[in-house]
Parts: sequence; C-alpha cells; structure tokens
Amino acid sequence: MANKDYYEILGVDKNVSDEDLKKAYRKLAKKYHPDANPDNKKEAEAKFKEVNEAYEVLSNPEKRKMYDQFGTADPSQGFGGAGGPFGGRNGYYSYSSSGGFDGFDGFGDFGDIFSSIFGGFGGRSSANRRNSPRQGDDLTYRMDITFEESFLGTQKEINLTRNEKCSMCNGNGAKPGTKKQTCSMCHGTGQIKQTQTTLFGQMQTVRPCTNCNGTGEIIPEPCPECRGKGTVRKQVKITVKIPAGIDENQAIILQGQGEPGEKGGANGDLRIIVHIKKHSIFTRDGQDVLCEVPITFTQATLGADLEIPMVDGTKETYRIPEGTQPGAKFVIRGKGFKNINNGSQGNFIFTVLVQVPKKLTKEQRDLMVELAKTMNEQPPVKRRGLFG
Ligand SMILES: [Zn+2]
Ligand SMILES: [Zn+2]
Repeated sequence: MANKDYYEILGVDKNVSDEDLKKAYRKLAKKYHPDANPDNKKEAEAKFKEVNEAYEVLSNPEKRKMYDQFGTADPSQGFGGAGGPFGGRNGYYSYSSSGGFDGFDGFGDFGDIFSSIFGGFGGRSSANRRNSPRQGDDLTYRMDITFEESFLGTQKEINLTRNEKCSMCNGNGAKPGTKKQTCSMCHGTGQIKQTQTTLFGQMQTVRPCTNCNGTGEIIPEPCPECRGKGTVRKQVKITVKIPAGIDENQAIILQGQGEPGEKGGANGDLRIIVHIKKHSIFTRDGQDVLCEVPITFTQATLGADLEIPMVDGTKETYRIPEGTQPGAKFVIRGKGFKNINNGSQGNFIFTVLVQVPKKLTKEQRDLMVELAKTMNEQPPVKRRGLFG
C-alpha cells in the first residue's frame, strides 16, 4: 500500500490542533458514512475507512509522532519488509502500558462520536448502527523475546484462539440452503416504537426489538456449525516477523488478524506487544548496548588487548591504553542496536571494572613490594596531613 498523507486525507495541516482535527474528522466521517451515501455506498465506504484510518493515527499522540517521524504509518518499509506479512496499517507502535493504544477500539469508540454526528439524522439509533458494518475487535498478544532476538530480529510462530468467520454459513448464521428473515415484529428496523399518553402529551419511546435482539433479522434455521453466531472459535498459527532493534513494549500491528468484522466490516487488528527478557551481561540504552568488562589492575596499568563479546555472538578485540582508570568507558562504533526505522546502528559501550586481587602468591607479593618501593611508597605508609 502506498504511503498515505493522513493530513491531506483529513484536509488539515501538520500543526492542526486536536480540536480542529476532531472537527475535520467529524465533518468527513459524516460526509462519507455509508448510510449517508446510499447511491455510491462502496466508494463512500472506502473513503470512510480512509478517513477513519487517518484519524486513528493522527488522534493518537504516540502514533502521530511516529507517523510524523517516518512520514508513514507503514513502517514495514523501514526494515525492508516489502513482501513480508506487513501491509497497510500494519507496523509497530510504541505501546504505553498505562494508556494502551488510547482512543481507538474498532468502531466501539466511534459510537459516541456517531451519536453526536448522526443525532440530526432523525430516528437513527443504536439499533440502526447495529445493522451497519462494524469493524472487528482488536486483539492483543504479549510476546516474550530474548535480548539477542531483539538485537538480531527473529521470526516467531504464535498460537492464538480467536473468532473466525464460520465457513459453513460464510458468517451469515443461517443453515446453508436457508435464509435469514426480516423480523416480523419490528419489520427489520430492529426497534419497537411505543407511543404513550402522558400528562405532557404523547411521548414516543423507542426500544430495541426483543424478537431479533435489535438486529432486524431472525434466523429460522441456525447454522449447525456456529449456532447462528456467524463466527466460530478457532486456534490459528500466525507467523510474526520481529524486526531487529525492536524495543521493550513496542508493538507489531498485523492488520486484519483480529476478530472478524460484522455486516461486512473489516477485521480488527492483532497487536503483538514485545517484552524483552533481561540479559545477564548486556543492557540497552536507546540504540546503544551497555556492558561491564572486568580487567585486572595490571591490564589497567599496562594497557591490554581485550576480547569483548558482542550481542550477536562474535567477539571484538579492543585495545585499552596504559593507565586506564576504573570506570573508564570505551565505545565500539556501530555495534549497537539497529534503528528500527532507518537501519542506522547504535554503539557498544563498555565500562571497565578494575579488579584488585584478594590473594597474591609469594612471588607476586614480593614483586608488588618492589614495585611499591619504586613508586616511592613504603607500605604501610602514614603521611602526615592526609591521615593526621
Ligand atoms: Zn455458521
Ligand atoms: Zn425485530
């Protein structure tokens, strides 16, 4: 899918305020809502989806930031994922454990907005919305990976139980060869109007039809496979490509791999949130790998070639100079984490821990004493002023 300019789709500029964004979205959602375009429903629906997609990204501060940063919400390009399992709205987003992906939960969250938009359409109610396309719910899956896997990237297979469209009735709910029927009680509207006479005059109340549960249709002979639900629980295997450089709590979004949509609505998305297990020697700081390397005090004093283990399992030889001080940091360039977006690489930074021997052999001790003498210090030394 080509990159889309979400700002252009919503007809706003990059600095648009949240309020103006919402206004622009409402205007367009109203204009393109399939129910408002009975003559060219298909086209309107496509536009409607596009508008929702744009709003979904721009109304979420995290997603918007990411979108602004790469100019796309399809970051699969960033890790050369063309042809991979990613496309369209797929990609990864930072996931904040507190708020989650706030603001978008299928069409559920739009309910409120719609009620305010469509309040003026007259007679539209939740029962009618129940008859319009509804996007399937999103699913969330938490995946543990190792530090090395986050560094190198990996491919994982996950087992997931989700609802899928029933193949026997094609999601229709009616036994093959039979048909759904228009509810005779509400005549397909899904609602029952009642007129009551009160002190204040005639009052009309509307309630969902109990005969059809507000759907407007009844299934005389339910599909034996799904018992009329149109969906069945299924365990599915999904292969997930984890890009090199993925960080803690980042999520991979697989579009359309969530719960099935209803009434022709799109499937929800599957969000795979990555948790990275702690490593015994390496830690991560942004794109950099950090590590502590123990050295002897003679190595620190004389300098030495150190063999440093890298995260990918290779080793790098690094020469520390004479007179290396405890806590000194050294940088091996380009051996850090890959930037998930542009492929640039961070650094490997190690800190030396100078170890003082707890035990010496007699020979070592004698040498040390000789060394100490040459350093003009008789052990033990008491210097006035320092200890006095
Ligand atoms: Zn079925
Ligand atoms: Zn009914």
